[in-house]
Amino acid sequence: MFRVGIGHDTHRLVDGRPLVLAGVNIASDRGGEGHSDADALSHAIADAILGALCEGDLGLHFPDQDPQWKDSESLELLSRVMWLAGERGFHVVNVDATVMLETPKLRSYVLTMRENVAEVLGIELGRVSIKAKTGEGMDAVGLGLAVTTQAVVLLTGN
Ligand SMILES: [Zn+2]
Repeated sequence: MFRVGIGHDTHRLVDGRPLVLAGVNIASDRGGEGHSDADALSHAIADAILGALCEGDLGLHFPDQDPQWKDSESLELLSRVMWLAGERGFHVVNVDATVMLETPKLRSYVLTMRENVAEVLGIELGRVSIKAKTGEGMDAVGLGLAVTTQAVVLLTGN
């Protein structure tokens, strides 16, 4: 049996915060505002997996108000979501994700981001696609105010 899921996330970019995407620290003056490490890519992939499982969203499982998740590493949240998928008898076939960020260019980071996701999801590198786009100078992404991510995952199981 196959299940498909979609995930989407946006974080406001603010001064003095680290910019973390799929567990990789990106060299940037500005980073994502948020309760955890604001890793928008890990969040979108986790939401896509939860969506495929019909298990609500990340906020339901790891509430903002819960101090347990303050400054938590989002790869750890993704790992917990994968554990849930395993409990339900599912594993990931592949992931395709897009990061929308005006600056800096992400090309030199993408391989490490893919390696991190592949490791947490327990699949080979060739099943994890991460693409980087800009906002072409328009909208919140284009103006450097936000980072936005999208992810689609396919699960297989019983
Ligand atoms: Zn998020």
